[in-house]
Amino acid sequence: MDANVERILHIRIKRTMAALEKNNMRAFYVPSSKEAAALVSTLLEEGETVATGGSATLVQTGIMEILRSGKYNFLDRGKKGLTPEETKEILHKALLSDTYLTSSNAITETGVLYNVDGNSNRVAAMLYGPKRVIVVAGQNKIVPDLSAAVVRVKETAAPANCVRLDKDTFCAKNGRCMRPVCDKADLMTLPAGGCEDTICCNSVVMGRQRNADRIIVIIVGEDLGF
Ligand code: SF4
Repeated sequence: MDANVERILHIRIKRTMAALEKNNMRAFYVPSSKEAAALVSTLLEEGETVATGGSATLVQTGIMEILRSGKYNFLDRGKKGLTPEETKEILHKALLSDTYLTSSNAITETGVLYNVDGNSNRVAAMLYGPKRVIVVAGQNKIVPDLSAAVVRVKETAAPANCVRLDKDTFCAKNGRCMRPVCDKADLMTLPAGGCEDTICCNSVVMGRQRNADRIIVIIVGEDLGF
């Protein structure tokens, strides 16, 4: 990366971390995936119950491998051969895990985590249940404010996730949500028809936390996930 661009990016990361801390979330920065995985290892206690939301970032950073190492009681929703009932049970148990790991669709420089979910097990766990939540996010997830976070989901995160999950949605076919096309004023609500297979069922804005340091955010100096 160009040194000047990198310098600007680091100013934004620093601002984001300070804002997250003000909102009672603990913030870390690590330059690489490898260091993110190492940090997660030091934060987790052997034998504790861990669970995850669906996350390309956790796979790319190698954190998923650490969780599958046998050191933890990992409620593995990705285990091969699970029946739909077994998967459902894991998602429910995850709500009472010691540590829940996930990424975030966007992190604002004002210290807000913004996530949009279809099944919504991920946003439910982020909000309440697990004793703590570790959010691992690439620098590409940082946006100036909530409006930019909403646009990021509609134009980047949701279309890519719809393709990954094989969803029959407008954005999977057209590369962006129908919403910016038909109604720029109200990006957060569901489109009225035309997207029955939507993954944008619930939009969650996480600002100041009452339970200090329950949310730990690790920002990685790489582009990760969607
Ligand atoms: S509402 Fe539908 S088309 Fe728009 S981003 Fe979400 S899944 Fe895609």
